[in-house]
Amino acid sequence: MCGIFGITGHVEASNLTYLGLHALQHRGQESAGIVSSDGHGLRAHRQMGLVADIFDAPVLAGLPGQSAIGHVRYSTAGGSLLKNAQPLFVQYAGGQCAIAHNGNLINAAALKEKLEADGAIFQSDADTEVIMHLLARSKQPTFEQKLVEALRKVEGAYSLLVLTENKLVAVRDPLGIRPLVLGRMKEGAYVLASETTALDLIEAELVRELEPGEVLVIENGVLRTSKPFAEPARLGRCIFEQVYFARPDSVLFGSSVYEVRKRMGMQLAREQPVPAADLVIAVPDSGVAAAIGFSQQSGIPYDVGLIRSHYVGRTFIEPQQSIRHFGVKLKLSAVKHVLKGKRVVVVDDSIVRGTTSRKIVKMLKAAGATEVHLRISSPPTKWPCFYGIDTPSRQELIAASHTTDEIARYVTADSLGYISIEGLGEAVGDADRGSFCTACFSGQYLLGEMAPGAPEQSKLTA
Ligand code: AMP
Repeated sequence: MCGIFGITGHVEASNLTYLGLHALQHRGQESAGIVSSDGHGLRAHRQMGLVADIFDAPVLAGLPGQSAIGHVRYSTAGGSLLKNAQPLFVQYAGGQCAIAHNGNLINAAALKEKLEADGAIFQSDADTEVIMHLLARSKQPTFEQKLVEALRKVEGAYSLLVLTENKLVAVRDPLGIRPLVLGRMKEGAYVLASETTALDLIEAELVRELEPGEVLVIENGVLRTSKPFAEPARLGRCIFEQVYFARPDSVLFGSSVYEVRKRMGMQLAREQPVPAADLVIAVPDSGVAAAIGFSQQSGIPYDVGLIRSHYVGRTFIEPQQSIRHFGVKLKLSAVKHVLKGKRVVVVDDSIVRGTTSRKIVKMLKAAGATEVHLRISSPPTKWPCFYGIDTPSRQELIAASHTTDEIARYVTADSLGYISIEGLGEAVGDADRGSFCTACFSGQYLLGEMAPGAPEQSKLTA
């Protein structure tokens, strides 16, 4: 997963890109980068770490020009290394070019092998570099035609921003897997971002979402749009963006993420009611909207039973062995006065390995909850994602090899209930499930990837 942001036609392009990336930080915390163009040449700064730690006034001053693109990275292909930080930036026969990619290409390894056999030298392990090589080798006459020819060869998920000396190009893959929106600032600058929350921060107005398969070129303030790819039979917007990944204040695939998550919680309460409970709490922050929906639908009061620390970074190294369980406590702490003697419904967005849920249930009981009923606003996660969500292999996905009852026992919950795939489809406004990818829950992959074989039984040990 990653976040991308781009702007053209503004004297403060790199400063605004910095702010846009800040708003998209939840989409990736490993590395960040900005490439700017002053119309003659491109300048780049990329570093490991968080946006606010990487960029300061002198760094941004070194990124001049009226156009810029930026990227926050959460590695799904290629290791968490500086060489894989984006935007990728190259000089080729046609000039300078930078590219920021959100998504995952499923045929990158095969393409890379062919290119390397042909003498190409790769500088990163990121699947995105394949696009650069294909573009540089294209014999097409114009930059856009080269880019389109390159993209016709790749398969998978890509929302892209490409910057040259004088153009900003935005592309969404034909299945529309990852989001990308177009906005406009009062002064006339055009902005592109993974999520609308980045537009809100810089007071840009949402113009529209890019269409699946759309190529949008902005040059000298003029927009040119085309749809050069074959139309697929169906769309594959990532349903996990709505479940977990996007920020609740964003409008995603045309719907408010907050409203959709609340509807998931209401649907969950209808499908998996808890007959007798005193309060509904959320696992913050990802479970909050669904917990409020669950409370409103069930009539069970909502309260704050868990507090999340905002100062725990992903870089935190857990202590070893005996004090290892402190890990989740650093992130979440229980409010004893709320929980003591109460029968609690706790709502979270997903169970992946099951380790977090187990720690949370134990924490709630240790804080005095007499019963803990766990409700999950997505169906059991049974299949890995090949399109850019960082899910582990099938062996590590607890629901791939265990029943709901077994998982309930493992996490030590008094009961466990998940929303159904159909119910989730209702909540996202796609009842016939024709426009969302649900592969992580259903195993029905968009591009006919071979579903991995039966998983080995994972071991449920503490
Ligand atoms: P687990 O302990 O593996 O079951 O983790 C489940 C928790 O991780 C839930 O609270 C989710 O909100 C969160 N989560 C789900 N998917 C992801 C992801 N791709 N990256 C990071 N966290 C996730």
